[in-house]
Amino acid sequence: MKRYPMYVNGEFAAGESGKWFPVYDPSTEEVIAEVADGSAADVERGVAAARAAFDSGGWPQTTAVERGRILLRLAEKIRQNAAHLAELECRNSGKPIVEAEFDIADTASCFEYYGGLANKIMGHVNPVPENAISLAMKEPVGVAGQIIPWNYPLLMAAWKLAPALAAGCCCVLKPAEQTPLTVLEMAAWLTEVGVPPGVVNIVTGFGESAGAPIVAHPGVDKVAFTGSVEVGKQIMRSASDTLKRVTLELGGKSPNIFFADADFEAAVDGALFGVFINQGEVCSAGSRILVERPVYKKMVEAMSAKAKKIRLGPPLARETKMGPLVSKEQFERVAAYLEVGKKEAKLAAGGGRAKEFGRGYYIEPTIFYDVDNSARIAREEIFGPVAAVIPFDNEAEAIRIANDTPYGLAAAVWRRDIFKAFRMVKALRVGIVWVNHMQPTFVEAPWGGYKHSGFGRELGPWGIEEYLETKQVHINLNEQPIGWY
Ligand code: ADP
Ligand code: MG
Repeated sequence: MKRYPMYVNGEFAAGESGKWFPVYDPSTEEVIAEVADGSAADVERGVAAARAAFDSGGWPQTTAVERGRILLRLAEKIRQNAAHLAELECRNSGKPIVEAEFDIADTASCFEYYGGLANKIMGHVNPVPENAISLAMKEPVGVAGQIIPWNYPLLMAAWKLAPALAAGCCCVLKPAEQTPLTVLEMAAWLTEVGVPPGVVNIVTGFGESAGAPIVAHPGVDKVAFTGSVEVGKQIMRSASDTLKRVTLELGGKSPNIFFADADFEAAVDGALFGVFINQGEVCSAGSRILVERPVYKKMVEAMSAKAKKIRLGPPLARETKMGPLVSKEQFERVAAYLEVGKKEAKLAAGGGRAKEFGRGYYIEPTIFYDVDNSARIAREEIFGPVAAVIPFDNEAEAIRIANDTPYGLAAAVWRRDIFKAFRMVKALRVGIVWVNHMQPTFVEAPWGGYKHSGFGRELGPWGIEEYLETKQVHINLNEQPIGWY
């Protein structure tokens, strides 16, 4: 059994408690590794190391071009080891190997993007009405606490680490307790690619015992969180005590909206892809499928027929299209929603555990239809392969239903009439809108939500802004500065 210690101040070590926790393969329910169980004492060490690297270790003073080169070297290491990382990600998270391979490639792309952006962070010259030079300078925000979920383990680490390091910040990152392995493998290359000790610290452990102390720590300047709304609210509350900068990427209940004029075959596939990719364990999952009345019945039938043929299987098999859910806890949460759904709506496909597997947290791709938007399965994020199909009569009703949710992460609109599609784009209160597509995500474009889906943006130049402060500099050019006294 491989043991993974945590990574603090450039060294791998057990936690202060000396305890280890098990990490599973959700397709076999077997323990595949043990990981150091971090506590407040480990967070203390991690923050101290990050503080020292930031305050006196010289990381913010390295040239931007050097920080960029380090990130590019890290990306190169990830590409060289992509097969190994994808396999480990696949085994630990249950996602199909083909999807894991995409994730690892995206991880490298994210480090490459911010490697390239590091020396393109620019300030401003402000045209003040004075004989002076007025500048706005960009500086790193300091030590960033970063807490990430289990659905895209290494990719989420990259979304957090890459912009922070490019900006000159030092990091204390806590991976999800379910999926800490790939980021720890990556940590082993940090010294080699040139990341000095203390600049990146990976503290492993559970939310309450290792996550909350990061959020509460006065030595942390900013916290970036991706996860549930419930924990997001706790984090915001806790961070207020130390006035930390906070960015939150929380859940969603994203509408995937189909008008009658959409290409039918593409629509059916887009609806399934939107909600079932990564077993539906996606914050932007198109879990509310809104369909215009004239094609509603046909669409429910076609989707259900196709959903029943989706190939579930061992995550490592290349033909597998859907693996198990990540954990027993997640399996039980989703299974409970299936029972709720059976009371609230009609079932067209799936609805239970995939019984052909003797073990593993497999859930059938499930489609409920005739769902009322007030039903729990239409309002609450399930984070599993469960679709709620809702009919609508016209554009106004589609907009009303789509926006009638506390969330605002993403939406998709399918219709051929681009004029009408653009009207929808403007009407939807969400941070991301896809037209005639759903889910493709690019490091160049902003990612984040409206409303209860959180605030702040990741990726692109927006992502690095969240790790920067703006300093005003005023350089007087008068021989006699202005003064009254
Ligand atoms: P889920 O319940 O699906 O695992 P969470 O929002 O609970 O989603 O978890 C996302 C991340 O937040 C994980 O890394 C988890 O350990 C962490 N976390 C959970 N609770 C807290 C908390 N109270 N404070 C800080 N981090 C937490
Ligand atoms: Mg939780």
